[in-house]
Amino acid sequence: MTETNNLDGFRTEVSDWVQANFPSTLKGLDIMSESPSTKGVGADFSAWQKKLGDKGWGTPTWPKEYGGAGLSDPEAKVIRQEIAKAGAFNPIPPMTGMGVTMVGPTILEYGTDEQKAKHLPGIASGEVRWCLGLSEPNAGSDLASLATKAVDEGDAFILNGQKIWTSGAHISHWCGAVVRTDPKAKKRDGISFVMLPMDQPGVETRPIKLIAGSSPFCETFFNDARAEKTDLLGDLNDGWSVVKRLLQHERQSQTSSPGAPKVDAEPLQEQAKRYVGTEEDGRLADPDLRLRLVRNLMDGEAHKLTVSRITAEARGKVNVSAAASILKNSMTRVAQTKAELTLEMMGHQGVGWEGNQFTDDELQSVRDWLFGKAMSIYGGSAEIQNNIISKNILGLPETTQQG
Ligand SMILES: Cc1cc2nc3c(=O)[nH]c(=O)nc-3n(C[C@H](O)[C@H](O)[C@H](O)COP(=O)(O)OP(=O)(O)OC[C@H]3O[C@@H](n4cnc5c(N)ncnc54)[C@H](O)[C@@H]3O)c2cc1C
Repeated sequence: MTETNNLDGFRTEVSDWVQANFPSTLKGLDIMSESPSTKGVGADFSAWQKKLGDKGWGTPTWPKEYGGAGLSDPEAKVIRQEIAKAGAFNPIPPMTGMGVTMVGPTILEYGTDEQKAKHLPGIASGEVRWCLGLSEPNAGSDLASLATKAVDEGDAFILNGQKIWTSGAHISHWCGAVVRTDPKAKKRDGISFVMLPMDQPGVETRPIKLIAGSSPFCETFFNDARAEKTDLLGDLNDGWSVVKRLLQHERQSQTSSPGAPKVDAEPLQEQAKRYVGTEEDGRLADPDLRLRLVRNLMDGEAHKLTVSRITAEARGKVNVSAAASILKNSMTRVAQTKAELTLEMMGHQGVGWEGNQFTDDELQSVRDWLFGKAMSIYGGSAEIQNNIISKNILGLPETTQQG
């Protein structure tokens, strides 16, 4: 039997299962921006999360023993496609999703058997939320300048310092943090990656309010916070290797859906016709906007095809590569341009913040446009991705961040 035949059978199985188990009350719900409990569907959300978690289909490629389903990449893609086709969503990456997309894959690679058994099942079931304490007030792009200290105190490290922009820190159970364990070593050689519980007296979080209205991230303070030595990920003072890998996973997770429309969402070109009007032959009335809109749609398609090509080339090799930097930048450009075009076509209706004269989509478009500005910053800024591309792909010499 061919792989396609196998996948056809699997596709039917997944489709039937999703139809039978996804609660219709959750259809169209955007779990990234709306809390299921405030929408009155908290119980249905929990039930869906438990069912998908029990199947291991929220983290389908992870080994079964750690809560995954032990499936191949093509099978995982089928699950994603069938979930999207049904108007459903993967509830396992709750809110920020960092456990599934970043911490989990890094633990799979660097963790001991004990660490995998301790941390991965909670991530795979969606019960344990993770945040990442990387950036500091004086260490963002130049992360290796980080100053948070971890001092060896027998069975544990004691942490003191401040992290910033920690997404979801106020709702997370665990944090993966990079800390300085050897202040005398060269800056990239004295760093370790530790995992610590957020619910302890030594950890304080203060949410930061964004221009887009929400507070998705925090300042995080460690005042004698405790990380057990058994929760050191990778070797002592080799945290730079661990975090570099984790950031590759982050970029990889940020490359796949440039402004992906929600199921049932009106296509951009139809939206444009509704706001701007059409010529007699049915084409969008504004030729300049038409040109830029088509260019954006083509860029989006080209991006998706490039993702598929790079994924196919990478099959059987190392999971993620420096190419993720190219994809992160192209995804950002497509999504930011799309957000600009959307507001432009909406005209006055695209600048409302609140009020009955605006539709929900219009209000959301303004928020998406504002939040979209963050895309060229988080996960490493566009300029930093360009540095990685020039050094690791084009082979140009490094001229910055020596040390
Ligand atoms: C929405 C959002 C979520 C985030 N979530 C997290 C999180 O969960 N955990 C976490 O630890 N951090 C998080 N961050 C922080 C993010 O990783 C940093 O903001 C990012 O790495 C940039 O660092 P910085 O803000 O200190 O800017 P800086 O490093 O000060 O950079 C300022 C400007 O200078 C440019 N620049 C700096 N160095 C160079 C160079 N060598 N060459 C060319 N240009 C350069 C940058 O591109 C940028 O335009 C998040 C950020 C955002 C916006």
